[in-house]
Amino acid sequence: MEIDKTKEYIDGLYSDKLVDDQLFMLRKEAEEANIPIISKQVEAVLKVLIKIKKPKKILEVGAAVGYSTLVFALASPQSQIITIERDTARAQQARENFKRYNCQNQISLIEGDALDILPELTESFDLVFIDAAKGQYNRFFDFIYEQVRPAGLIVSDNVLYRGMIANPERLVRRQKTIFKRLRSYLSMLTSHSNLETAVLPVGEGLAISVKEEG
Ligand code: SAH
Ligand code: MG
Repeated sequence: MEIDKTKEYIDGLYSDKLVDDQLFMLRKEAEEANIPIISKQVEAVLKVLIKIKKPKKILEVGAAVGYSTLVFALASPQSQIITIERDTARAQQARENFKRYNCQNQISLIEGDALDILPELTESFDLVFIDAAKGQYNRFFDFIYEQVRPAGLIVSDNVLYRGMIANPERLVRRQKTIFKRLRSYLSMLTSHSNLETAVLPVGEGLAISVKEEG
């Protein structure tokens, strides 16, 4: 209850300036279509990270209709972004949205399953945003880790699984595999000798990891 009021209040801070927000219409459309785009608070954290990090190369796993991709592109015009989406209809909408916001030259969308695409990527990245099937985060990470530059960031969304990671008694059976995998993912991130990780109860849970310099 307490948390919900706080969340409502913080969301309100952002909605006051929504009229100036270029992505306002796209957020509205995506939310109305029940596309699980990043929450406003996650968006705010990502923008802060972008302004601090000034990434040249960004990789995103899970574009959906391209909302978060456009958050990166607009907050960081100097970045080149690769994003991956396996759903054909969403990938098509994402491409249209990149044109609509005139960001098509900054973003390459690769359509397909990230588990097939990630092993083929040879570039390295300053920031990787993981926001796709929660049961696969461990595997995405294994492919991505070597491609992250020293001092680069790995940001993982939805890691607290609507609070269920801390409240397993609320789980129904089919959610148990995801629960186990996300718990092992978070314990790997927080105990990794070459990463510093903060797990934040923002949105559905956001893990921010930074790779050591060396
Ligand atoms: N990042 C987006 C929301 C992504 S929703 C935003 O905030 O605007 C998660 C998306 O990941 C869905 O569209 C789903 O189709 C895609 N996805 C899930 N698993 C995937 C995989 N293994 N490879 C590629 N895309 C995947
Ligand atoms: Mg998400």
